[in-house]
Amino acid sequence: MSVWAVLVAAGRGERLGEDRPKAFVRLGELPLLAEPLRRLDDSAWIDAVVLVAPPEWEEPAILLAEEIGASKVTACVTGGDTRTASVRAGVAEVPADAAVIMVHDAARPLLPPDVVGRLVEALGQGFDGAVPVVPLHDTVKRVASGAVAETLDRRELVGVQTPQAFVAAVLRAALARGEEGTDCASLVEASGGRVAVVDGDERLLKVTTRADLDRVAAMIGS
Ligand code: C5P
Repeated sequence: MSVWAVLVAAGRGERLGEDRPKAFVRLGELPLLAEPLRRLDDSAWIDAVVLVAPPEWEEPAILLAEEIGASKVTACVTGGDTRTASVRAGVAEVPADAAVIMVHDAARPLLPPDVVGRLVEALGQGFDGAVPVVPLHDTVKRVASGAVAETLDRRELVGVQTPQAFVAAVLRAALARGEEGTDCASLVEASGGRVAVVDGDERLLKVTTRADLDRVAAMIGS
């Protein structure tokens, strides 16, 4: 069974306030992208990686892959205006005989190896997709017109991370419907797919602000 990873790194990351896309902001000696790329490349579960870079950053992305010896990278394509468009561009590069496609955000650099194993195992149990989740610690409310409309039952809610793994044909069909989503699982759910949840990891936090980048820098090596 071949497992392909699509690493989406084409976001602008404007909230970081840097002069370059988020994936190319420095994290220690190297651009942030190096960390999730190295971790996917090192995973025994993953056979090949497709990189999705911002326009005009394809070449730096390929050079970085070479610099860190990420030998599983088979293609680097240009992303789109939305995350879903970027995923679509990456998935188009995955060969038809791939069994599983795992989509990961470059903005979540600290990928623990065992999360990948848990996702692949969930697909082996017959699910169409699998996502890593973490419990929510805050109380969650729905607001409307500046006031609380409803307090949701936190015990039924989770935070959802990436990587997200899918039976390749199911993800392709979900993407072909042409809809947008903030993650891939929502597209698969909307197509009637069954998505399993597995334990996520607090280290998989998403870098959005400078403070997140500092937290990731402090945790690197974990
Ligand atoms: O914007 P957000 O933080 O949700 O992005 C999540 C991931 O999707 C990031 O790794 C980002 O680089 C990627 N992305 C992309 N193309 C876009 C927007 C986001 O590849 N147009």
